[in-house]
Amino acid sequence: MSESALSAPILPPATLGMLGGGQLGRFFVSAAHEMGYKVWVLDPDPHSPAGRIADFHLVAAYDDYAALDRVAAECAAVTTEFENVPAATLDYLAKFVPVRPGAAAVAVCQNRIEEKGFLAGNGLPHGPYAAIRSDEDLRAADAALFPAVLKVARFGYDGKGQARVADVDEALAAFHQFKGEPCVLEKLLRLDFELSVVLARDEAGAVRCFPAAENRHRRGILDVTIAPAQSAPAGLRDEAQVVAARIAEHLGYVGTLGVEFFVCEGVLYVNEMAPRPHNSGHHTIDACDVSQYDQQVRALCGLPLGVPRQHSAAAMVNLLGELWYADGHATGAYREPDWRVLADVPGLRLHLYGKHHARPGRKMGHFTVVGEDQAAVLAQALRARGAIGVTDE
Ligand code: ADP
Ligand code: MG
Repeated sequence: MSESALSAPILPPATLGMLGGGQLGRFFVSAAHEMGYKVWVLDPDPHSPAGRIADFHLVAAYDDYAALDRVAAECAAVTTEFENVPAATLDYLAKFVPVRPGAAAVAVCQNRIEEKGFLAGNGLPHGPYAAIRSDEDLRAADAALFPAVLKVARFGYDGKGQARVADVDEALAAFHQFKGEPCVLEKLLRLDFELSVVLARDEAGAVRCFPAAENRHRRGILDVTIAPAQSAPAGLRDEAQVVAARIAEHLGYVGTLGVEFFVCEGVLYVNEMAPRPHNSGHHTIDACDVSQYDQQVRALCGLPLGVPRQHSAAAMVNLLGELWYADGHATGAYREPDWRVLADVPGLRLHLYGKHHARPGRKMGHFTVVGEDQAAVLAQALRARGAIGVTDE
């Protein structure tokens, strides 16, 4: 693309539009505010974390076209923090204002069948899988895929809409439980560990990757992120950045993108992409010169991307809703976790999202421990994780 084809940068105090009011949107609002922008948030939840700190919270559905007209009239550009915003909504807004990332890129990341097809079609590494739209597709699936994970193609997150299945019969039962919704059947891989790369790409095609991070999950939900990744040799971390950058290029992506990887027997496979900042990039707020949210603002506004240098080792721990229940389950007494135990941990920064009500599995906040030494930072974070009450079961 020639320089002259690039749009003029959007400068403060312009108003930016954010579709989705979760924690990722809330951090975007903070970053945009620091840079002098105003933000309108569209989210149907009147208590949304981003809506609470936005300049204006439009409480409306994502397909409420009267609300979208107001966003288009008020906002100089629009982005999203929630990958399930209907592609039609992004397309509609794009008639009036820049929308970054665009609907086509978001649509690929919204649907696991499209996503896998995109990876396969562009020669990008992914695990063995089959697209499942009928019982026949399952019966015809390669026996070598089992044991497998059946995942609904749309609207799954934090391990929801997934079932581990040993054979075709179990897969059929799970498929029927998912009401015959289109699915992907993935071979269950023996993971050495998991990585992610968060990057930003601007309108001119420049890509800036944060160092690859290592992710540990608990019950299908991200639990701990270690950044930079500890288990991966430098060559593999670099390769993850190269693959993530190729994905962004093939998608024609503009904005912040999260790419999740599996590593099996030393080989890298793309697991999935998130067309937005990523939970495993929260530490960039406290450990990097620019955060993934700063980059999202910059890419959206056509400003030069920052250099994503990580100045400190970091470990991030997610704080899920079960911590608000005395017995760690929704049956126990509801109470606030004892934040005093985190207050004097060196290098620890606590971030709470201001969510209205805690439910088990719901992301309520996180903390990041930063410091000089990676091993010390991780040990400190794991001690604090235990002290606040996160268990390993
Ligand atoms: P979500 O949208 O919930 O993040 P993922 O597909 O990333 O869905 O799955 C969540 C986690 O489940 C992964 O990070 C990984 O730990 C585990 N997982 C998912 N698919 C597989 C697989 N094919 N083999 C092994 N583990 C998997
Ligand atoms: Mg995932």
